[in-house]
Amino acid sequence: MPDIAVWNKCDNRCVMCTNMTSFALQHSGQYRLKAQVEKMERYLKGLGKIYLKNPDKAGYVNLTGGEPTLHPDFFPLLAYFRRRLPGTPITLLSNGRRFADRKFAAKFAAAARPPFGAAIALHGPNAKVHDPVAGVRGAFGQTVKGLENLFSLAPELAVEIRIILHKKTIAALPATLKFLLEKFPDTSRYSVTLIHYEIEGMSETNHKSVGLKFAASSKVLDRALPLIRRFADLRLYHFPLCQVSPELRPLCRVTLPREDRIYPPVCGRCAVKKRCLGLMLEYYKKFGAAELKALR
Ligand code: SF4
Repeated sequence: MPDIAVWNKCDNRCVMCTNMTSFALQHSGQYRLKAQVEKMERYLKGLGKIYLKNPDKAGYVNLTGGEPTLHPDFFPLLAYFRRRLPGTPITLLSNGRRFADRKFAAKFAAAARPPFGAAIALHGPNAKVHDPVAGVRGAFGQTVKGLENLFSLAPELAVEIRIILHKKTIAALPATLKFLLEKFPDTSRYSVTLIHYEIEGMSETNHKSVGLKFAASSKVLDRALPLIRRFADLRLYHFPLCQVSPELRPLCRVTLPREDRIYPPVCGRCAVKKRCLGLMLEYYKKFGAAELKALR
């Protein structure tokens, strides 16, 4: 099932956002409740290409944006998706800030009937790192408060904490993981996903300040290994297997569609190609494939 862009506005201005600013400037009419319901009904009847991202992936739905929780009819829309997609895992991708409002979080907990998850982006261990990435002062405090509320009010919700790795977040990764272990010590209650950023939208525009090569990120991952081991469920997205140490390779997942990835010639001599992501196509265009090493 597809990624559904629920709402095109956002209250963060993340430096590595994969959307262009033009997305937020679009008129929001096509994202209103009535339009969303019409699109889903057409999709369920198989009437043409309705959703652009991951339209052929079966078995789950991601609600994305912009920031979906800003939708003026957020709760009726959630109720509609839950009713029309019974049994399908739905994941809400959010900056988590609106959940700082305890009433809003409680209402969400009641509407997000299982199987339902929330993937919340955290950019650092404190406001000094997080807020400049999010582009909003006070964002860190709200996101952390939002997580606290979801943990206390939504016991059945599958919570995932996403840390996007790029030049502005990588150095703080060990401190961010330490913060999570101290603030939310029951790691069986949530999963953590470390995602090497995608070069698209604002992250491409901001390439000078966010650009990060695997050679640099894998060094920090190695330093963070003792912390990584302490999480019950931690995954790595977008990493080629040869770019992480052997202990981290079982944590790597292939989550990008084939058309967004490439296997340069060196991969032809590699023993693990079948379970490896290869390189993100845009990464390859920007940085080339010199870092890759065929594994035996
Ligand atoms: S050489 Fe290619 S297939 Fe092998 S681990 Fe590296 S990226 Fe993956």
